[in-house]
Amino acid sequence: MPASEQLAIYPGSFDPITNGHLDLIRRAAKILNHVVVATLRHDTKDPLFTAEERMEMISQATADLPNVSVDSFDGLLVDYARGHGARLILRGIRAVSDYEYELQMALMNRQLSTELETIFIPASEQYSYLSSRIVKEVSRLGGDVSSLVPASVSARLIEKHSNLSVG
Ligand code: ADP
Repeated sequence: MPASEQLAIYPGSFDPITNGHLDLIRRAAKILNHVVVATLRHDTKDPLFTAEERMEMISQATADLPNVSVDSFDGLLVDYARGHGARLILRGIRAVSDYEYELQMALMNRQLSTELETIFIPASEQYSYLSSRIVKEVSRLGGDVSSLVPASVSARLIEKHSNLSVG
């Protein structure tokens, strides 16, 4: 099989990357030749971390995975995937509530590019409740999120929230 057929783009906000994302990346990296974790640069969700900060945290957390690389993109995911010769989009499904939106996106992306397939990997049970949003919320209120995110992310969350409360 040509390498491009086993290259997957894993797009998302990753604001910030959590142990749930990381678990998905590790499992995907075992079955695919290469995974590009692609952060959405200009996110309408008004991210807490800049695209550079988000990419740095992903790079640190995946440094031991030789077939995982980190990038960012703007605009249509299908254009970005095409530019990389990728034919697979990777997404995670935590609960049934994720499914409707994920299916809608997958079908829209296939409509935009018939060559592109979305593959879904179910979240591990222990991370199925975990989202970047809940991590930010708990951390903002002073809760300990060190078991939910990589160590460098936990430190940056504390730093970010203390800067925000000072500023
Ligand atoms: P987006 O803003 O595009 O939803 P996220 O960073 O929140 O980006 O998530 C990116 C992808 O990772 C999505 O497919 C999402 O379902 C998946 N994901 C998020 N959290 C987890 C988790 N805890 N376990 C597995 N997959 C997850």
